[in-house]
Amino acid sequence: MKTPIGSLNPAIRTVHIWGGGVAGLLMGHFLSRQGFEIQLYEKTDRLGGKIQSHQLPEGVIEEGPNAIFATAEIETWLHSLGLTVIPATPKLKRRLWNGTPLAPMSFGLALKLLPKLFKRTPSVNDGITVAQFFRPLLGVHVDSLLSPALQGIYGCGADDLTIASVWPQLKAGRYWRVLRSLKSTSARSVSFPRGMAEFIQALASTIKGQIHLNHTGAFELRPNTIICTEAPMASQLLNGSWAEGARLLQRLEYLPLSSVTVLAPEISETRGVFGYLFPRASGVNALGALFNREIFPQRAGVTFILPGTDDVEARVKTDLHKLSWPAGPLKMHSWTKALPRYNQTRTSTLKALQHDPERPFELVLFGNYVAGISLRDMIQTASSFAGAQAPL
Ligand SMILES: Cc1cc2nc3c(=O)[nH]c(=O)nc-3n(C[C@H](O)[C@H](O)[C@H](O)COP(=O)(O)OP(=O)(O)OC[C@H]3O[C@@H](n4cnc5c(N)ncnc54)[C@H](O)[C@@H]3O)c2cc1C
Repeated sequence: MKTPIGSLNPAIRTVHIWGGGVAGLLMGHFLSRQGFEIQLYEKTDRLGGKIQSHQLPEGVIEEGPNAIFATAEIETWLHSLGLTVIPATPKLKRRLWNGTPLAPMSFGLALKLLPKLFKRTPSVNDGITVAQFFRPLLGVHVDSLLSPALQGIYGCGADDLTIASVWPQLKAGRYWRVLRSLKSTSARSVSFPRGMAEFIQALASTIKGQIHLNHTGAFELRPNTIICTEAPMASQLLNGSWAEGARLLQRLEYLPLSSVTVLAPEISETRGVFGYLFPRASGVNALGALFNREIFPQRAGVTFILPGTDDVEARVKTDLHKLSWPAGPLKMHSWTKALPRYNQTRTSTLKALQHDPERPFELVLFGNYVAGISLRDMIQTASSFAGAQAPL
């Protein structure tokens, strides 16, 4: 099961949360529901971390996440927060672009893969990459199909991700059985009329206790502290109180990424399409592009996600030229630590953090490096963690 690292003492009814991104706010929300008093410390002047929406005359644009891939249970919970939930336009096509837009799975390819579904997978060990695991089934399509799809979630391809990190529960066996076990419960992408920031505001409004913005006070490891910052910052905070934890947290690697929303006039190719994924062989700089206005009617433009933080404007303009799309005003945002790498180092570091005998009691580590990168994973993990902290 996906869980945060560490545990709380339910006899102590105050919790100190460091970091006001979605991880910290989710913990604050679900623990408030369990009757805890929350003290939440955010170092900047705004909540949400990577979730930031902007209202422009053209429509809403998002700096980071644009949707929650929500189960029916999550949607019910979102309604209970007083949110109006907007589902993504149904039946949009997803396309790979390699000189021209292509359906990810053609009938011919499906037919070719069919007999291979009865092959046995390689055995699962900690170091095996997603590419190594799926290459006997997919062959070259690991690079042309699987990697682009993973890039859209993890910011890197199948060679840079390990099975144990991405799918910790996955077991070796025949491919058809493995694929069946990976098929997720039904879910759909949802957002809110004024964008993802509404979700952040709704969570913050449910927190019972105090939210301290612009918090610059020194970190103090008090009983029931939850650190919800990126791992390198968690390392800095813990330096004086858990030396081994601080050393381990430094090992976690992050990917730099940029998002660029192009506010171009309507582009006819985007109609009826969710977005494009760009295989590396396409020569396009971006990993993918989301057709915002198609997905949610209140949104504007097309958002490109690019690896790295350098020459962002020039690289997007090259991509627009390659796609023969018009340029328009650009809204750019870069993160040097956009997403944690879901690799072997992460798996072994989390195990070491979990089992270190010096780990302080009543300290919890949570964030997107711990128990899943997606908002859905984080909601489910925070909810079940808080649910287990019933008063003694
Ligand atoms: C471009 C992009 C697109 C994405 N799209 C999606 C999507 O569509 N759907 C989806 O499910 N997921 C998506 N994700 C993933 C998801 O956005 C992240 O996993 C999630 O937002 C991370 O939240 P977090 O709270 O762990 O970290 P953060 O958002 O980084 O929050 C950390 C917070 O801690 C604060 N902080 C740092 N240091 C201190 C300190 N010393 N004291 C107090 N506070 C501190 C920061 O200011 C920040 O507010 C996307 C990610 C990116 C980068």
